[in-house]
Amino acid sequence: MKPRNLFLQLRRGLSFLLLLAVSLYSAATLSQESDVSVPFDIFGKTMGPIAYKVSVAHHPDSVSPTELQERVSAVLDNVNQLMSTYQPDSDVSRFNRSSSTEFQPVDPQTAAVVARAIEISKLTDGAFDITVGPAVDLWDFGPKNANFEVPTLQQTDAIKNTIGYRYLDVKLEPPAIRKHVGAVSIDLSAIAKGYAVDQVAAALDELGCKNFLVEVGGEVFTRGQRFSGGKWRIGVERPNDSAVSLSNIAEISNQAMATSGDYRNFHEIDGRRYSHTIDPQTCRPVNHTLASACVISEDCMTADALATAIMVMGRARGQQLCNELGADCLLVERESDFGEQLTEYTSSTFPLLEKAKSSQSPTIVQQILPVFIGAAVIFGLVIVSMSVGAIFAKKPITGSCGGLANQTNEDGETTCGICSKPTTDCIEKDR
Ligand code: ADP
Ligand code: MG
Repeated sequence: MKPRNLFLQLRRGLSFLLLLAVSLYSAATLSQESDVSVPFDIFGKTMGPIAYKVSVAHHPDSVSPTELQERVSAVLDNVNQLMSTYQPDSDVSRFNRSSSTEFQPVDPQTAAVVARAIEISKLTDGAFDITVGPAVDLWDFGPKNANFEVPTLQQTDAIKNTIGYRYLDVKLEPPAIRKHVGAVSIDLSAIAKGYAVDQVAAALDELGCKNFLVEVGGEVFTRGQRFSGGKWRIGVERPNDSAVSLSNIAEISNQAMATSGDYRNFHEIDGRRYSHTIDPQTCRPVNHTLASACVISEDCMTADALATAIMVMGRARGQQLCNELGADCLLVERESDFGEQLTEYTSSTFPLLEKAKSSQSPTIVQQILPVFIGAAVIFGLVIVSMSVGAIFAKKPITGSCGGLANQTNEDGETTCGICSKPTTDCIEKDR
C-alpha cells in the first residue's frame, strides 16, 4: 500500500475510534443516571389528624405505589398503636394508667424510643423530658381536652414531684419500662413522630428504594437525591400565626430535619401566648421569645427531640447545644409574644439553598456537557489546523473522492480553488 493511502486509512481509523469513544462515554454517562422507574408520591393521615407524605424518586420495578402505601400505613399505624396517648390500649396509655413501680413489659420499639428519650434528656440537661405528661394535661394540650384556664401556682406545684426523667428506668432485654413514683406518666409526642419517619425510611430502604423523602407532620427524612438530581429541598416553616408560609429552603440528603414551634399549638389568654412546649423545671409553658427551632440530624427521632429541647432551652443555650453536638440548626426569635419582627439565627454550615448550591450533585445535562464541549474543541482544532495550512502554507485541502476537490464545472475544471486535484485513483473510480 502507498504511504499516502496508508495515512488516509490511519486517519479514517482514528476518526472512527474517536467517534466510538465519544459515543460510548456518552452512553455510559446516560445509562448511569437513567432509571426506568417512575417517581410517585403517596399521602395519608396518621396519629389522628397528622398528614404524611412519601415521595419516591427511584425504586425497583417490583415496588408499586399501592404496595408502598400499604406498607407505610402499616408502619405508621404500628407506631401509633404503641405510643399514642390517645389510644387507650397503647403501651404508653397502659403504663400511664398503672401505678405499679415494677418493670412493665412493652414492645421493643417502645423501649427503644424511651431509651433514646432518656439519652436526650441527659444531653439537654433535662430540657427534653417525656415525663411532662401531667403538665401537658394540666395546660390542656393532651387528650383530656377541657376548657382552658391558666392553672394556679398550687396546681403546677402539685405535679412537680411526678415530673423528671430520673423517675424512669428502661430495659431493652427483655423490653420493659418502670417508674419510681406511681403517678409518673410519659408522653412521647415530641419524639414518636420522628421515630415514625425513621421507621418508614427503614421500610423503604428494605424495599430497595434508593431516592426518597418521608415527611410526617413536618418532620422529614431524605435518602439520596431528587428525581431531577441534586439534594432534596425542604421548606422551613415561618413562625406565622395567620398562615403557614415558608421562609427558607434547606438542601439535605441522607439526613433528617425537624421543626418545633410556638405558633401551631398554643392558648392565647389576655394577650399572652401559652405554647405546648413545657419547661420541665417549672411545669409551665416555656416563657421566652424563641418562636421556632429547626434541627438537622442523622436520624429524625433525634432531630425531633432536639427541636423540642431547644424550644425549652431558648436561643443562646440552643445554639450552644447544636455547636457541641455538631448539629445544624435554624432558630427564629420574635421580639415579643405576638410581635411580627422575627430574627433568624443559623449555624454556619446550615445548608440553606443559596449556600448549598455549590454542593449540589450535577444533573444529567451538566454531566454530558463536558463531553460535547470536548468533542466541539477537538473538531474546532482540526478545522483551524486545516485552515492554517490552506491560508498560510497554501496547502490544498485534501479530501475523499466524493468531496469538494472532485466537483467540476461544465468545462470539466475543478470548482474548488484551494482543493487538491482529484487523485488518479478517484478519476479512475469515477469512470
Ligand atoms: P410538634 O408536635 O408540633 O412537632 P413537638 O415535637 O415540639 O411539636 O412536640 C410537642 C409535644 O411534646 C407537646 O404537645 C407535648 O405533648 C410534648 N412536650 C412538651 N414539652 C415537652 C418537653 N419539654 N419534653 C418532651 N416533650 C414535651
Ligand atoms: Mg418535635
